[in-house]
Amino acid sequence: MRIANVSGRLSLVVDGRAVDVEKASDGSFSSDPQAVYERWEAFRAWAGTADLPEGVAFDPAELGSPAPAPRQTLAVGLNYRAHAVESGFAAPEGLPPVFTKFVTSITGPVTEVKLPADGHTDWEVELVAVIGRRARGVAESDAWSHVAGLAAGQDISERVSQLAGPVPQFSLGKSLPGFTPIGPWLVTPDEFDDPDDLELRCAINGEQVQKGRTRDLILSVPALIARLSAVLPLLPGDVIFTGTPAGVGLGRDPQRWLAVGDELVSTVEGIGELRQSFIA
Ligand code: ZN
Repeated sequence: MRIANVSGRLSLVVDGRAVDVEKASDGSFSSDPQAVYERWEAFRAWAGTADLPEGVAFDPAELGSPAPAPRQTLAVGLNYRAHAVESGFAAPEGLPPVFTKFVTSITGPVTEVKLPADGHTDWEVELVAVIGRRARGVAESDAWSHVAGLAAGQDISERVSQLAGPVPQFSLGKSLPGFTPIGPWLVTPDEFDDPDDLELRCAINGEQVQKGRTRDLILSVPALIARLSAVLPLLPGDVIFTGTPAGVGLGRDPQRWLAVGDELVSTVEGIGELRQSFIA
């Protein structure tokens, strides 16, 4: 099942076309894409059996984030060994660093992003998990049952402000407007042969800069949910950025940053792509 935010309205994507959920359910479910996670089990049950009308065509630029206003976004740093090495850090023992991407930075999959004038803006393709059932003290073996679905994410990162100051601060430099595209839609875990082994790629102007697989995550999606939910409750509709593989601009020699006019395409196997163009 693919769940999309089409021009701010909750939709199911069927054969590439959008079915409006509020209309198709005669108002049983609200049009608010974020509200559905509070009623996720009921929604899945309805969507799995409903006699849906034919959908309408849509442009990817009309899509918003499938989770546009999560109460919590937890983003995980240094969760692939090769990326920890290129960043100049030891791979973490135990829980990796966790920061947030503030909610105002979240967008849909196809956007223009304004580059900060004095920044060094970097790319990080990531698998994103959205929580579908409250998770507190969840065992790894039960963790997937708390996941509504998976999406592609870009953890766009401004490295000057991230690394300035007495200690690095991740959240602000990763939360400029437009720095958190998510999409193109949410794909439920049952759609994947193996949701723990998906290829991620990212390219700038057609040149591939990152390629990895989620089987190389130090902490997998279930392991992250177990570790994080031991500390705090994960709420329906919460977003988890799971970390980026090697190939970011910070780790290159010479270092490389996004420039005005660049187009960044980020892809996760079995989900789809994000497309960001950068302006002054
Ligand atoms: Zn990241």
